[in-house]
Formats: sequence, structure tokens, C-alpha cells
Amino acid sequence: MAQQYRITLLPGDGIGSEIMAVAVEVLKAVGKKFDLQFEFQEALIGGAAIDATGEPLPAASLDMCRHSDAVLLAAIGGYKWDTLPSHLRPEAGLLGLRAGLELFANLRPAQILPQLIDSSTLKPEVVEGVDIMVVRELTGGIYFGKPKGIFETETGEKRGVNTMAYTESEIDRIGTVAFETARKRRGKLCSVDKANVLEVSQLWRDRITKLAAKYPDVELSHLYVDNAAMQLVRAPKQFDTIVTGNLFGDILSDAAAMLTGSIGMLPSASLGASGPGVFEPVHGSAPDIAGQDKANPLAQVLSAAMMLRYGLNQPAAADHIEKAVLAVLERGDRTGDIMSPGMNLLGCQAMGKGLLKTLEEI
Ligand code: NAD
Repeated sequence: MAQQYRITLLPGDGIGSEIMAVAVEVLKAVGKKFDLQFEFQEALIGGAAIDATGEPLPAASLDMCRHSDAVLLAAIGGYKWDTLPSHLRPEAGLLGLRAGLELFANLRPAQILPQLIDSSTLKPEVVEGVDIMVVRELTGGIYFGKPKGIFETETGEKRGVNTMAYTESEIDRIGTVAFETARKRRGKLCSVDKANVLEVSQLWRDRITKLAAKYPDVELSHLYVDNAAMQLVRAPKQFDTIVTGNLFGDILSDAAAMLTGSIGMLPSASLGASGPGVFEPVHGSAPDIAGQDKANPLAQVLSAAMMLRYGLNQPAAADHIEKAVLAVLERGDRTGDIMSPGMNLLGCQAMGKGLLKTLEEI
């Protein structure tokens, strides 16, 4: 009997519904091939939810997400909602979703596809073959530590304060996700911290080192964050999986992503301890091209592949999607954002159709 999965779709705003439509068709096609049955249910988030209900994440949407096997999100936001107070802006929907599903681990791959190597701003010989996964802690560290705020000192001067703090259990749970991820990849994990200066990093290093005993098949190394930033642009091929805290991960995952040079190609996954993960492209809602059939659907499609691999444990179906994306690029199909001379310029829908045909053929 076919394995059944309930998937909540959150198309959100801007190009969201266009790229989501492609990802859904792709999932249906691999479902047929791999005997997986998807039950899709759609919910509102972001600006679309604000327009319909006055809230960026209605309780019904969060509830639907909680009662599903995985959540596929497109993107939220747009000029129309930019002037609302921050708790009513589309971004608040995203934060509410992460908090509501307790998504503490953010997985951000940065892979150089040979067909798009010229999109990188770095020399081809530096980036060729780069395939990195940054595992970022998402719900702790300096973004949430207390005390936080702007306080007045005794002299009347203002003082801004944030606190970088991690408990042993917070480090252990992100460390476990990272070791498990490295195990599914090339078996190398680099933990990034600032243990030469920060006590919180000393604890981080200590716990990650202890965890390593449970994963003898994974080779663990440590780097200080300043060195890691240098190494990422100097010799990125040395990295397989990187694990780091919230602040360092925020910065390093964007730096790693930009090695590839093409935002329309980058997927991500956010995972909790149990319950559904959220899978979404790194890019935003691209309001400048919304409704024009110009969006690149591949980051959304690759997010669906991540959902199969990391959310539903269906690696063969994920591999199949990733192979089809490479094949489509190999024959020269491109959307505007990744276009180069001599290639075939396609819209979002045509790219989706080509992908479906390729999924059948390979
Ligand atoms: P953006 O990522 O939406 O767009 C940046 C540029 O990249 C634009 O020129 C856009 O046309 C292009 N682009 C992005 N995705 C593309 C795709 N799939 N295909 C082709 N071109 C693509 O970032 P922005 O313009 O800074 O933000 C627009 C809105 O998106 C804002 O409201 C912002 O808050 C929101 N945003 C949401 C998320 C999210 O949902 N996770 C992330 C970033 C930004």
C-alpha cells in the first residue's frame, strides 16, 4: 500500500502561489513513481492571511500545520504590508510558525551546480564541487537570551544589552541534528564557535565534543567563527556539514549561500524535535515579478526534495527530484534570474512542465 503523507501548503504572498503550483505537480509525479500518496491541504500565512483575517498566522493555519507530516512554505511579504506595526507584519507569521512548531534547527544547503558555476562571483576553481550544509540553531542564543533591551545607566547614558546563552540541552539537541545530518552526507562535521573569547562557546565546544563519542563514523573539527568566515570564501570545498549557533549561523549561512550566486535555486529546512518540519526557499516573495510568470520555481522544488529527505525520510524520491533539476539545467533551460547567453529562457510554468517531463524520462 502507498505510504500516505498529509502536507500543509503555505503559498503565502508574491510569487508564492506560482512556484508552489510547480512544486505540488512535481510531488504528485514523484509520488506516482515511488508509491507515495500526498494529501495536500492549504492554509493562509503572511500578507494573504492579514488581508483575509487580520492576522499574519491565524490559529487555524498553525493548527493545520501541527496536524500534518510536513509543511511546505513558499514566501511571505510585500510592499502593501510594510507599514503595519511589527507584530501584524507578514514576517510575524514566519516567526510565529517557527515558535509554534518549535523549529530549533535550520538546515541551509549551499551547493554549486556545475551548470550554474558562472553565477558565482568567485573563481570557478575555488567553488567547483562546493557542497555545504549549514546547520544553524534557530530558537536560542543571542536573539532570545535575557536580559535584553536598551537600559539607562546611572549617569543617564543608554546601554543596549543582548545576552548570548545556551543550555547544555539546547546544544545537545542541535548537535544531534548536525551529527545525524553529517552522517547522511559525507561524514564530516565542523563546529563553529568563538571559544577563545566566549564562555557560552566553551560550553558549546565541550558538549559537541562529548556528543562526538556517539558518532564514531563522523569526523568532527572545530573552527573559530572569524576563521570559518575566511575559510568559506578562501577554500569552501573543505566543508561538508557546519554546525553553529543562531548569530554565527545567520551570517555564515548567507555567506555560504552566496557562494552559489543564485538566490532562486536555494532551499532550506527548519526542523523540531518531533512534529512536522517546515521546508521553504531562502528567497523572499519577489513582489517585483509576482504574477508575471517569471519566477524561478527550482528553489521551491528543491525545498520539496528536502522535505522528502529530511522530513519524510524518502531519500530516493528526493534524489530523483534533484536529478531532474540538474537534467533540466543541463539541457540549457533557464528562468530570467539564472539566464546566461545561449540558454533557453523560460517562464515559471514552462520550467515546471519541462521538469515534469524530465521526471518521467530519467
Ligand atoms: P526577494 O528574495 O523577494 O527578492 C530579491 C530579488 O531576487 C528580487 O529582484 C526578486 O525578483 C529576485 N528573486 C527572488 N526570488 C526569485 C525567484 N524564485 N525567481 C526569480 N527571481 C527571484 O527579497 P526582497 O525583494 O528583499 O523582499 C521581498 C519581500 O519578501 C519582502 O516583503 C521581504 O520581507 C520578504 N522576504 C520574505 C522571506 C521569506 O518568506 N522567508 C525572505 C526574504 C524576504
